[in-house]
Amino acid sequence: MPVLNLERTAAMRDEDIVLFENSLAKWCDEHAPESRVAKWREQGVVDREVWTEAGEAGLLCLSVPEAYGGMGGDYRHEVVLMEQFGLKGVDGFGASLHNAIIAPYILHYGSEEQRRKWLPRMARGELVGAIAMTEPGTGSDLQSVKTTARLDGNNYVINGSKTFITNGQTANLIIVVAKTDPAAGAKGTSLIVVETDDGPEGTIPGFERGRNLHKLGQPAQDTSELFFNDVRVPTSNLIGPDPGRGFVQLIEQLPQERLNIAVQGMATIERALALTLAYVKERQAFGKRLIDFQNTQFKLAECKTKATVARAFVDRCIELHLEGKLDATLASMAKYWVSDLENEIVDECLQLFGGYGFMDEYPISRMYRDSRVQRIYGGTNEIMKILIARSL
Ligand SMILES: Cc1cc2nc3c(=O)[nH]c(=O)nc-3n(C[C@H](O)[C@H](O)[C@H](O)COP(=O)(O)OP(=O)(O)OC[C@H]3O[C@@H](n4cnc5c(N)ncnc54)[C@H](O)[C@@H]3O)c2cc1C
Repeated sequence: MPVLNLERTAAMRDEDIVLFENSLAKWCDEHAPESRVAKWREQGVVDREVWTEAGEAGLLCLSVPEAYGGMGGDYRHEVVLMEQFGLKGVDGFGASLHNAIIAPYILHYGSEEQRRKWLPRMARGELVGAIAMTEPGTGSDLQSVKTTARLDGNNYVINGSKTFITNGQTANLIIVVAKTDPAAGAKGTSLIVVETDDGPEGTIPGFERGRNLHKLGQPAQDTSELFFNDVRVPTSNLIGPDPGRGFVQLIEQLPQERLNIAVQGMATIERALALTLAYVKERQAFGKRLIDFQNTQFKLAECKTKATVARAFVDRCIELHLEGKLDATLASMAKYWVSDLENEIVDECLQLFGGYGFMDEYPISRMYRDSRVQRIYGGTNEIMKILIARSL
């Protein structure tokens, strides 16, 4: 029983999409039950095999054409995956990053040869994707990236350090944001693929993974430092026909990344409300159920109203994105607004759980910690406001 009364848009109610949603829900129950996800949290990373299991089930590269090994779906399939993972608590499995952030760079800007080389292996889960933009010295200010890719004959020689990289312990296809012309600012930035297994002993020389970072939340997700010391890759690993296009490619793809965060935020909001409603209808205080206190009703009425308003906006953004009309302003609004709201609603819900809300074994406590970063990654919410302000 959905918590929000608002019907989804026609695009999301399509028969194919609903069928896919049902089969994905089943897959999550079978392949990512709570016991397995708990193990991922303990080990700080998902089992490597879950990538190949997802590949076998056709869940990787959902919106990549079948000709390149994908499922031939569209962004709605990616939405369903993010929603089901959120609703079912499939924490830490970075398939949405792989599918809806990494694959699109190769699909949209890669050469035919690159698409044929990488996408089918990504769809099978043999290659796991990551994108390395952030460095110890720069995050929001992407133009200040210090990592360099120096041209040497038919190779680029990459030097630099990256940090906070999602899928960083697992990924073997890493899109590195590097300066091919350090003097040219944004126009000297390029995206270059490093296949980390592409070396004589199974690792490309000069590449090193640093720590799997301990975080406030999202413990099942590996987030890492990465080091590049004279890593040589062929110039054919450059994404796009010419160097210097990386910044534009990032700017064009970031709206989808930001919408992804809003979609994930909506799923968390919905799950928080569902868990809390069940709890307050059960738990008793002063001889009545928590739901019978007017404060509980008002708090949840406010949360539900705000969530419904947010759902209407996010669904409209999804529609616009399917039509190729989602601009940076709307995507930034969705990311900032929904991630703030997610934090607010999860906090209100946690309060209604009382002391149990603070206990690890209650999902709401984990959701509280996991949600915090939604306001930070994918561009901080302050950066979102800068982007929105440009439209004023
Ligand atoms: C769990 C996690 C996963 C991540 N995954 C990835 C990944 O896969 N790949 C990747 O490349 N990066 C990843 N990141 C990095 C993330 O995108 C950056 O942390 C984020 O963009 C902010 O950069 P920063 O941490 O350097 O903060 P800073 O840029 O140093 O910002 C610090 C503070 O200053 C504010 N600020 C900065 N500039 C301005 C300004 N002009 N006006 C007003 N305020 C400003 C920011 O909003 C923030 O509050 C991840 C981060 C985390 C925590």
